[in-house]
Amino acid sequence: MTHIEDFKDKLSPMAYKVCVEHGTEPPNSGKYCEPGHEGVFLCVGCGTALFYAQDQYDAKSGWPSFLRPFEPDVVEYYEDNRLQAPRTEVRCATCQSHLGHVFDDGPEPDRLRYCINSVALELEDE
Ligand SMILES: [Zn+2]
Repeated sequence: MTHIEDFKDKLSPMAYKVCVEHGTEPPNSGKYCEPGHEGVFLCVGCGTALFYAQDQYDAKSGWPSFLRPFEPDVVEYYEDNRLQAPRTEVRCATCQSHLGHVFDDGPEPDRLRYCINSVALELEDE
């Protein structure tokens, strides 16, 4: 089975920290924080299409925010109880790379905010 560890040679130190060790990049540090990109964001590890650039919006959170994944089954969800308030972790369904978290304070109608680390993503054809 494919795993994010298989791609560790191509990951930057920050990407390794986020994707493999489930860390978080510093807010406003990522290159995809602001919306306005075109194309598809891929998993930095396995290259699976994860988010449409057009589904990104500016949540002013310091991280890229998306309304929905590329397809419902390209991501998987895990309960994350590392902080006091439980969060829902989002991982790449193909290689288990940690991507970020999903919150329910997004815009109508779905109210979802996929809060994703820039270093976990790679813009297609960049
Ligand atoms: Zn992946």
